[in-house]
Amino acid sequence: MADLASYIQKAEKIVFFTGAGISTESGIADFRSPGGIWTKMKPIYFQDFVADEQSRMEDWRRRFRFQKEFDAAPLNDGHRAVASVLNSRSGLGLITQNIDGLHQRSGVDDASIVEIHGNGTNASCLDCGLPMSLQEAQSLISKTGESPKCGDCDGLVKANIISFGQPMPQDKVVEAEKLALNCDLFVVLGSSLVVQPAAGLPLLARNNGARLVIVNRENTPLDPLAHLVLHSPLGETLKKALEKQPS
Ligand SMILES: [Zn+2]
Repeated sequence: MADLASYIQKAEKIVFFTGAGISTESGIADFRSPGGIWTKMKPIYFQDFVADEQSRMEDWRRRFRFQKEFDAAPLNDGHRAVASVLNSRSGLGLITQNIDGLHQRSGVDDASIVEIHGNGTNASCLDCGLPMSLQEAQSLISKTGESPKCGDCDGLVKANIISFGQPMPQDKVVEAEKLALNCDLFVVLGSSLVVQPAAGLPLLARNNGARLVIVNRENTPLDPLAHLVLHSPLGETLKKALEKQPS
């Protein structure tokens, strides 16, 4: 803990990398881990969304349900600590695997966040990219009884999250790599670091000379390479570390 406090204090360019673990402390279910939602509910793959109207409708039903949960979820000390560091002189940026929008709600500027798995609070046309709000999608569905289509080109509209089987947007990957290469402290919070290419980012930072800190409940494959590993609750750990900072 004292080490984490001193790393944060000495660092000049801090990047956070957050996964489901930071949001489970807000009561949001973890999607991918054992016991998570995908072990109880079959994920809808991208190719099924594109091919099949029933899959699309089910995807939208889940989207609206999850979004309601996300909007109702309270922020926790982890989100607040991340926002406070990022809004200080040493904050460089945030890479997140989460799609719940809680970092934005905690006061992190949109421009400082790279959402590598996308964002569920808006949607767009898969063909031409024309944006559509979630509300508009919902009202189209209740009006027509069908999944929403693009008003410009009649293409399929999908929430802006990366589904299983859907390629990661290359511009996000490049942005995330840039952050990893430019920081002097890379802090992983609540990610098991098994999903690629996200899991390569801490390594990229470390091999480029940054300190690597991992705070996660379970072991991760990169633990042996980190300068500091804490298997403790995120919110509490970060809050205590920041309290040790001279103001
Ligand atoms: Zn379109």
